[in-house]
Amino acid sequence: MTPGNAIVVGAGIGGLAAAIALRRTGWDVTVLERRAEAGEIGAGMSQGPNALRALDALGVGDRAREVGTPFYGTANLREPSGRDLNRAESGQSLPLLGFHRADLHRLLLDAVPAAAIRTGAAVTGYQTAPSGAAVSLGDEVLEADLVVAADGVHSTARRTLWPDAPDPAFWHYTVWRGVADLDLDPAAGGMTLAKDRYFLIMPLPEARVYWALGARAETAGERSADEAAEVRRRTAGWHDPIPALLDATPPDRVLHHDIADLDHAPLPTYVHGSVALLGDAAHPMSPDLGQGAGQALEDAVVLAAALAGAPDVSTALARYDAERRPRTQWIAHAAHRKGTGYISGSAARQRMLVWSTRMLSARTLASLTAKGLARVWDWEPPRLT
Ligand SMILES: Cc1cc2nc3c(=O)[nH]c(=O)nc-3n(C[C@H](O)[C@H](O)[C@H](O)COP(=O)(O)OP(=O)(O)OC[C@H]3O[C@@H](n4cnc5c(N)ncnc54)[C@H](O)[C@@H]3O)c2cc1C
Repeated sequence: MTPGNAIVVGAGIGGLAAAIALRRTGWDVTVLERRAEAGEIGAGMSQGPNALRALDALGVGDRAREVGTPFYGTANLREPSGRDLNRAESGQSLPLLGFHRADLHRLLLDAVPAAAIRTGAAVTGYQTAPSGAAVSLGDEVLEADLVVAADGVHSTARRTLWPDAPDPAFWHYTVWRGVADLDLDPAAGGMTLAKDRYFLIMPLPEARVYWALGARAETAGERSADEAAEVRRRTAGWHDPIPALLDATPPDRVLHHDIADLDHAPLPTYVHGSVALLGDAAHPMSPDLGQGAGQALEDAVVLAAALAGAPDVSTALARYDAERRPRTQWIAHAAHRKGTGYISGSAARQRMLVWSTRMLSARTLASLTAKGLARVWDWEPPRLT
């Protein structure tokens, strides 16, 4: 089809990736972002080989490899005492790169002309229009041939156009995150596992280290006046460098979010007329496979390729939905199951994990991890011509 004009709602990783992919296939794109500035928060994230291929398809893969660092993840597993459960053989990390979120976001932002992004633009409603779809920003209405709603986990688009869909649900899982100013070798990264919580360490370039504490929580929204102190309390006595990381993190920059997903009620479709949901708006997922943003990147590439190869928007969006929904919902379910295990609180499960991990050689564990994730990591992007 002949490319037309598109509105992308949200300048997060998903929205920016969609803007890049659509522009590469000839679309005229306007990104609407409600925040005053299109920036990202101070935390980290990992990306797998599938996401890196999506970044390649967007033309920013080389830049991403420059700003990412090898991430060890489950290749280096420890107990809170510091005893190794598994240590990567010959320093071999998993095929993952760790990023400061702001770095990954920035390289996508740099690939979209500033004139195509309108900040301070909060979309309040969605309508059908003769051209395809329209969005309202208060009294102002903007029409387009296509609207891509990449407005995140609490998507206004999903609530408006899918009024019967339940909201993402809390499932007793909460996460604190921070970035410490500390120089750590990438091989010091990994995960420390306890009965109902874990601590993740991801060294980043420029003497920074991303850390996260994931834990079981009985009630949603429970917050402490001093979140940094709360993290210290929950990791008291845990091995080095955890105390040093917490010391090197400005207390006012400790983030605390509850995890919510749609695993209890996956959406029946990601498409409503000429509006396509993308990223967390369509499939909010637990962070445990490191795939939320990766799947948003894949969505963007597949959406643009479907539009390029179809006779009209509605055929393209039907293809997008058919291709993306099963994969993303399967990955979201797998991430939910993995997260459930991490925060289970079961002493028996913890003993089994410790025993089985120590029984396996590092090589066997790495190969089992790669086999278990092959269906996620092996994804190949369609060509964006
Ligand atoms: C603790 C944690 C760890 C994670 N770790 C990883 C990881 O290692 N790897 C990974 O791939 N993913 C990870 N994720 C998931 C990842 O953060 C998300 O999947 C990803 O950021 C989703 O991107 P998005 O663009 O869909 O949504 P968002 O990043 O939420 O962006 C949505 C954008 O839309 C804007 N917006 C919202 N409403 C409106 C509106 N009405 N009008 C205009 N603009 C609007 C927002 O301001 C925002 O800029 C993690 C998530 C968490 C919580």
